[in-house]
Amino acid sequence: MPDILVLGAGLNGLTTALLLARDGHRVTVLERDPAEPGAGGAEELWRDWERSGVNQFRLVHLMLPRWRAEMERELPETIAELEALGGLRVNLVRELPDALTGGVREGDERFETVTGRRPVVEAALAAVAARTPGVTVHRGVKVTGLVAAEASAPGVPHVSGVTVEGGQTLLAELVVDAGGRRSTVADMVATAGGRRPAEEREDSGFVYYTRHFSSRGTGGGVPASQDVLLQSFDSLSVLTLACDNDTWGVGLIVSSRDRRLRALREAGAWGRALASYPTAAHWGEAEPITPVQAIAGIEDRHRRYVVDGAPTATGLVAVGDSWACTNPSLGRGSSIGVLHACALRDLLRETDPAKPDDLVLRFDEATETGAAGSFFRATLAFDRHRLAELNADMNGVRYETDDPGWAFTKALQAAALRDPDALRARSLIGSLLETPDAALARPGVMDRVIELGADAPQYPAPGPDRAGLLAAIGGEGLAGLS
Ligand SMILES: Cc1cc2nc3c(=O)[nH]c(=O)nc-3n(C[C@H](O)[C@H](O)[C@H](O)COP(=O)(O)OP(=O)(O)OC[C@H]3O[C@@H](n4cnc5c(N)ncnc54)[C@H](O)[C@@H]3O)c2cc1C
Repeated sequence: MPDILVLGAGLNGLTTALLLARDGHRVTVLERDPAEPGAGGAEELWRDWERSGVNQFRLVHLMLPRWRAEMERELPETIAELEALGGLRVNLVRELPDALTGGVREGDERFETVTGRRPVVEAALAAVAARTPGVTVHRGVKVTGLVAAEASAPGVPHVSGVTVEGGQTLLAELVVDAGGRRSTVADMVATAGGRRPAEEREDSGFVYYTRHFSSRGTGGGVPASQDVLLQSFDSLSVLTLACDNDTWGVGLIVSSRDRRLRALREAGAWGRALASYPTAAHWGEAEPITPVQAIAGIEDRHRRYVVDGAPTATGLVAVGDSWACTNPSLGRGSSIGVLHACALRDLLRETDPAKPDDLVLRFDEATETGAAGSFFRATLAFDRHRLAELNADMNGVRYETDDPGWAFTKALQAAALRDPDALRARSLIGSLLETPDAALARPGVMDRVIELGADAPQYPAPGPDRAGLLAAIGGEGLAGLS
């Protein structure tokens, strides 16, 4: 009997498996998708690895400095493996123009990350898992239900394994749901006789139009950033993400209600839109290696397996996206995931296996009150304001809110373009290296943010207003598009 079954071999499922195996557990990972990463290099992974279980498998990803820091401390061989596959080591502050950063400073090494296209990052984790004692990954195995022979309390099934397609049963002392944003484990709990886990869920309201590019063979490398990764403009955000092996991804993110910007699904309109932003245009001046790929209907979803102070089931916990996920424009899923997995690993060191509800209750508390929960809520708050701002842009009005947090976020964005300390505070927060309170506590930073940012224009970075954007993409002519 394996100690622990992990459902799902995505970024967070593999990270969890590695962390737990490192602590002496025997871990078996069950992954629905049958394809192995294969022994080829990054290009083969990008071209060939079939992973229909992960919708965003070939969409833009960047691993944040917090992810790099956690992985380098906890699982350094995963970073070495990613670099061996061509993963890019890049410093998100040092690569910016001196005019923004004020030059290199002590402490800037924290902004370093190692990143790559999603299949390449995941393959690095899979390669390390394949040679780690105590981890076994079975692909092509779909979990269909939970084994819950006994109850740990009235109405609380105790999960002691899973059933898989074909009817086989696998037993374990703990089942970890890492089944991602579309995990069906909550339904399985209800089928097993437990109360349904509490779930909040809504369409995040954003549409992504993304493309990857390559400068391979031209010696051009990855474009140098002129501004932070996620730039906000009237009606649209631009995401520019460096990847492995001289490739990179660009995302144009708009409100799903904005019918006129649906024109961005067409490559010509997409290219003209990108070209109209002076600090981002150069990211589109290379060979595209994908068409424009659109993803909409991305849900904000949050599940709790403790309801009214009691577990809905014992012997079962959820990590990563299957616990909570948001609109991904801040690129936080894998960083929150590794923090969440570390919290589980730490709790398993101290909980008593004879008290099955102890782990579930304490993990729920550690999740909601710890780093994972606070970063999740901060991300959700940012998304909701930004979506409301995009919708106001669409209607030609300025977004107003009573929330001083959003006013401060906007002031920080503006101040970061004019003050190196504000830039670093923004980058510490964006990289998930520090909470806003800690990042802004440095002497003088708060004052400068207020001085430089409070009366700044709504969109201080250079770029067209909505009318200019629509004109650039030919949006006037597509006004009737639905
Ligand atoms: C457009 C987009 C862009 C993103 N960009 C970033 C980014 O820049 N940086 C970042 O950190 N994050 C980003 N994310 C988020 C990131 O992709 C997720 O946080 C991450 O994939 C979550 O990993 P996971 O292991 O929790 O789930 P997943 O990676 O979704 O993996 C879940 C796995 O479980 C398997 N599975 C599901 N059900 C079963 C079952 N019943 N039996 C067996 N297996 C099952 C699936 O096949 C899948 O392989 C982005 C997301 C999107 C949508």
